[in-house]
Amino acid sequence: MLKLKKALLIVDLQIDFCPGGRLAVPQADKIVPVINKYIKLFSKNKLPIFASRDWHPKKTSHFKKFGGRWPLHCVQNTKGAQFHPKLRLPQETIIISKGMSPQKDSYSAFDGEDSSGQSLYNLLKILGIEELYVGGLATDYCVKETVLGALRKGFKVRVLLDAIKGVDIKKDDSKKAIQEMKIQGAKIITFKELEEKWST
Ligand SMILES: [Zn+2]
Repeated sequence: MLKLKKALLIVDLQIDFCPGGRLAVPQADKIVPVINKYIKLFSKNKLPIFASRDWHPKKTSHFKKFGGRWPLHCVQNTKGAQFHPKLRLPQETIIISKGMSPQKDSYSAFDGEDSSGQSLYNLLKILGIEELYVGGLATDYCVKETVLGALRKGFKVRVLLDAIKGVDIKKDDSKKAIQEMKIQGAKIITFKELEEKWST
């Protein structure tokens, strides 16, 4: 059942993206307990876990104030940039930071790097990962861009349908994002399905 080497990638489950945060995704906190179940399952199977985070400098053209699109959020070393307090990331989780450029927008975790500057792509290659399981925030931005990035780089991708939430600035943005990810080759899965699959 675990023939392909798999990894879990949790995208941007940070305080600023959750209700009460500076750029809250509606009901984002609802996925935290579900993500925690995936974390447990991957840990039990000794599979690596990655968590990406938006990690912006104070001044970046990503923010409205400097000509960009978004209100201030996830500024490096602020409370809002921390992971959701109920997210149970194991010690060995590999943290991928992204969005550090003062000039450039970036949404995909594949634009990010770990604390030693190693890119997500290189880390996955070093670990021999072939299939990525992706959940987190937000369906119509960073999850979508991360999934499409992974597919372009030749990984198999499963989107965790019960562990993503979207912004939906336009109604149906998330629905369209899921559709696009599927068209590009991503498969979707829920926790129940995965648990059953891996227990047989
Ligand atoms: Zn951002």
